[in-house]
Amino acid sequence: MSILIFADQAQGKIKKAALEAIQYGAKVAEQLGTTATALVLGPVDAAELTALGNYGAQKVLHAADARLHEVESIVYTKAIAEAAEKEGSKVIIFPHNFDGKAIAPRVSARLKAGLVAGAISYPDTSNGFVVKKNVFSGKAFANINITSEKKVIAIIPNTFPVAPGTATATVEAFSPAISDADFKVKVVRTETVSGDIPLTEAEIIVSGGRGMKGPENWGILEDLAKSLGAATASSRPVADAGWRPHHEHVGQTGLTVRPNLYIAVGISGAIQHLAGVNGSKVIVVINKDPEAPFFKAADYGIVGDAFEVVPKLTEAVKKLKS
Ligand code: FAD
Repeated sequence: MSILIFADQAQGKIKKAALEAIQYGAKVAEQLGTTATALVLGPVDAAELTALGNYGAQKVLHAADARLHEVESIVYTKAIAEAAEKEGSKVIIFPHNFDGKAIAPRVSARLKAGLVAGAISYPDTSNGFVVKKNVFSGKAFANINITSEKKVIAIIPNTFPVAPGTATATVEAFSPAISDADFKVKVVRTETVSGDIPLTEAEIIVSGGRGMKGPENWGILEDLAKSLGAATASSRPVADAGWRPHHEHVGQTGLTVRPNLYIAVGISGAIQHLAGVNGSKVIVVINKDPEAPFFKAADYGIVGDAFEVVPKLTEAVKKLKS
């Protein structure tokens, strides 16, 4: 009855959010006096699989089926539910990223398991099985007691520690009962998103709002991001205006991010924007209006014109690094 952790991969590499989920799952397994099994779907190198032991997985179930190379949520749901049944897992953990958001609710419905999507705590088992999550756009917390026998938890990336050890995991082949007819969606083309770090996994994010005036000015944000090894993001109106792609928009209707450092440039700090970023560990706001609401949520604020401040900041970062 081990804890099952869905460890998603992209292009054969296990994602950072999955490593965090494994370490989280290992801690829950310890709490419940059981073991942690990571489930990997799609072709991944053997060395990468055994290395998941470093993050606390005692066992890795691996379905090397090449058809599982791309995430297909319906097929993945079927395979994960089958793995959970096979392992007798009562607790199944997902990263709350794009894949996890699509698949965890489906697995939970299939297994008739209670779900906490967007968990930010380990379960408190002193009186039930209580997991904390943000609600009302981050204005409040809900402590949810999962009373069903089976439980699904999807954890927000960049929330829990990832400190690899030196153990190795045993790898067991897994052949889920899937047929070609199960694949309702065919991936015809994949595009690498700007070649950068996935936003939900980024440790540093440089984000721009309408104060940047237009897409032609994004170069200064990209320079700053590059100097810091950061990903770039935007407010929603920026994406709506087509200045930046929609997958970069953060907030209530976009991505939720929790980087170590979030630098907001020319963003007013509307509640709907804050909802997606207020879990960031350190927030720096650059805005020419000293009354901009974002300053209230900031750890550090710079009142100034983005077009003067950002290039100077980039220069300073480059100097520090040289
Ligand atoms: P603005 O509000 O126009 O702010 C621009 C800021 O730039 C101002 O503070 C200004 O002082 C500053 N500025 C201007 N020039 C400069 C300069 N040269 N240098 C420095 N600063 C400058 N928004 C999101 O971002 N994400 C969401 O997910 C989201 N979801 C929403 C859902 C709903 C249901 C609704 C109703 C709204 C949602 N919004 C969302 C929109 C949100 O309410 C705000 O309208 C939006 O966040 C504002 O974007 P902004 O800060 O880029 O633009």
